[in-house]
Amino acid sequence: MHEYILADRVLQSALEFMDKQHLSSISVVDVDVGELLGLEGDSLNMAYGILSKGTKAEGSKLKVHRVKGIVSCNKCGYEGGLRDIPNEHVIDPAFACPNCQAPVSIKKGNEVKLNSIS
Ligand SMILES: [Zn+2]
Repeated sequence: MHEYILADRVLQSALEFMDKQHLSSISVVDVDVGELLGLEGDSLNMAYGILSKGTKAEGSKLKVHRVKGIVSCNKCGYEGGLRDIPNEHVIDPAFACPNCQAPVSIKKGNEVKLNSIS
């Protein structure tokens, strides 16, 4: 279900933008999606389509850019990507360092960011 939470966040921002710019319709919402969210662009788009029905943003599509995840390990100092990216069925993945398997902290790649709306 977490794609619905994220899609809703994007939708609310898009609607806010439409209000501010006095737009009556939009077609493309360009978003960055961190790969560590374990989310497929398709499922996010589908959730967005369902949530935007009946709103002013109905009919618009998400253009999803996948942003590479970066983690850092407190134990061995590793910083970079992960070897295994969890799939979307993993709700709360515990990320491990590819070097030493210690838990890592996420520096980048666990957020959804709205770039532009057209
Ligand atoms: Zn490590």
